[in-house]
Amino acid sequence: MDKLGVLVAGAYGRMGREVVKAVVAQADLQLVGVVDQAGAGEDIGEICGLGELGIKVETDLPAALKKKTAAVMVDFTTPLTVMDNIKAALAAGVHAVVGTTGLTAENLEEIEDLAVRTGKGVIVAPNFALGAVLMMRFAQEAAKYFPDVEIIELHHDRKIDAPSGTALKTAELIAAGRTAEPGSRPAPLEKINGARGGEYLGTKIHSVRLPGLIAHQEVIFGGQGQTLTIRHDSLDRSSFMPGVLLAVRKAPSVKGLIYGLDALID
Ligand code: NAP
Repeated sequence: MDKLGVLVAGAYGRMGREVVKAVVAQADLQLVGVVDQAGAGEDIGEICGLGELGIKVETDLPAALKKKTAAVMVDFTTPLTVMDNIKAALAAGVHAVVGTTGLTAENLEEIEDLAVRTGKGVIVAPNFALGAVLMMRFAQEAAKYFPDVEIIELHHDRKIDAPSGTALKTAELIAAGRTAEPGSRPAPLEKINGARGGEYLGTKIHSVRLPGLIAHQEVIFGGQGQTLTIRHDSLDRSSFMPGVLLAVRKAPSVKGLIYGLDALID
């Protein structure tokens, strides 16, 4: 059986290292390249605590893609670089699995268009943890009965974007699930600017950033005399790996854009 070649962009980062470890542990996948701006020339196995793998960190993604050994690029980089990376993968005829958050609706439209034109698959998921996908589904269902809701998302202190991609996606699903308009719930005396959070599609979102956290979210619905809280916690970055591996195996059979892990699990 031919192994599926995987290149990891952002391999030196926290998520990238997890992806490297997960890919090398799979019998049907082969790690064929790693790219990052940090750790240039170092062996990625040594960086990940796996011992020498003979695969060195490269800094030039288009050059790494041109070697034509990768079928799928996995990207966990930064919101500032992810679009260029996706374009480079599609230009090289390589499918992409993207976990980097911060992509806008316009970015997604552009990716869809490029993926369709090149006949390649791009799977973008703001959250690859199965529990988070279920949290979002349950939130959409609950919104049918409870239009008034706020989201508190909590992440480690080095996360660049706020609110999280998961919080935005949850708010979109809630908006799609509502059958009644939410109340306005104003704070006529907001004593500190931003105390009521940011608003997206009728849902207030509050972003907490602290050392010690990984990725967590609470969706709190309020109704007459009751509240309903749906909470998900990623306690370790390995929680994202089953979803990433599912997407890597699926990507070669996709043409165009798939957004969200939920589209892959039914
Ligand atoms: P991180 O530790 O900062 O890792 C990002 C890595 O990408 C860094 O090593 C960075 O290098 C590198 N990089 C920057 N520009 C690059 C480029 N042009 N090509 C290749 N590599 C490049 O961040 P993280 O915690 O791993 O998170 C990465 C992304 O994944 C974030 O957007 C985060 O929100 C997202 N995330 C998604 C999920 C999900 O389930 N979808 C889960 C967790 C995190 P420098 O440090 O030198 O810039």
